[in-house]
Amino acid sequence: GKNEGKGQYRFFDPAQSNQLKTRARLRQRLLEAIDQRQFVLHYQPRVDTRSGELLSMEALLRWEHPQLGMIRPDEFIPLAESSGLIVPIGAIVIDQACAQLAAWAQAGVRVAPVSINVSPKQFLRGGVRRELAEALGRHGVAPQLLEVEITESAMMGDQEEILAELAAIRALGVKLHVDDFGTGYSSLSQLQRMKMDVLKVDRSFTAELGRSKEGTVFFQAIVSMAHALGMEVVAEGVENAEQLALLRTLGCNEVQGYLVARPMPAEAMAALLTQRFLF
Ligand code: C2E
Ligand code: CA
Ligand code: CA
Ligand code: CA
Repeated sequence: GKNEGKGQYRFFDPAQSNQLKTRARLRQRLLEAIDQRQFVLHYQPRVDTRSGELLSMEALLRWEHPQLGMIRPDEFIPLAESSGLIVPIGAIVIDQACAQLAAWAQAGVRVAPVSINVSPKQFLRGGVRRELAEALGRHGVAPQLLEVEITESAMMGDQEEILAELAAIRALGVKLHVDDFGTGYSSLSQLQRMKMDVLKVDRSFTAELGRSKEGTVFFQAIVSMAHALGMEVVAEGVENAEQLALLRTLGCNEVQGYLVARPMPAEAMAALLTQRFLF
């Protein structure tokens, strides 16, 4: 019948076959990247909305391929997640973040907490909690210096295993951030059920600030809700002074974005850490 025909056509679709080849090649390259340690972390500061004091930073993964150059995470994280390779890659991220914190402390650099991005796949089987605890211990880093970001969509639904893992990680003394807030469909009850420390409002909402009345009203509602639940609020993707001014009046706690600084290598971040106030 018609459907069988479609299925056969799809199977022989040259475009799809190319895509599969590309996926297979990308997967092979990711395996090499893990083996040859081609991953580095860049750091982007978060500052106090009012004072401009540098409070913490986000570690953002970069793949430095010897031939292809720097590859941004959006180009390989999806495949890393679907193939399970995010587990070993995530372990590298945890280890590098802790190693960097230890190196800065040893060099006498004023350290600030580093947040890392963790994929839902890393939570299953309890691996990430153990990796965090072990890396902190191995590098002699205080748990208060490491923070975990998990997207709102990853916390959605009835994912008891993830929620239990998050609670256990928080019990280690590691703060939890809800990442990309506003893009998923989490309900207020979800946020009430799982104690999180920081709400990071997705940059699509920051972009609406000042553009439309609704955008500002919506942001205000998020700030009020987060504060009522005992969470701090970070605005992501702050790119201009007008947004910063509005975020000040809204009582948003921290800002992150190109207006303050772009993500940068560890050496540049160390220089910034000594500055303390960025505006
Ligand atoms: P994210 O966690 O939402 O990270 C913020 C992204 O916004 C980063 O992109 C950052 O460079 C970018 N950004 C920061 N300020 C601005 C701004 O003012 N304007 C605009 N337009 N963009 C800004 P990046 O580094 O390309 O990372 C993309 C995504 O890849 C991250 O989004 C995160 O979901 C994922 N990712 C990055 N590192 C890791 C990691 O170590 N593990 C996992 N699982 N995912 C990661
Ligand atoms: Ca993030
Ligand atoms: Ca985000
Ligand atoms: Ca994102």
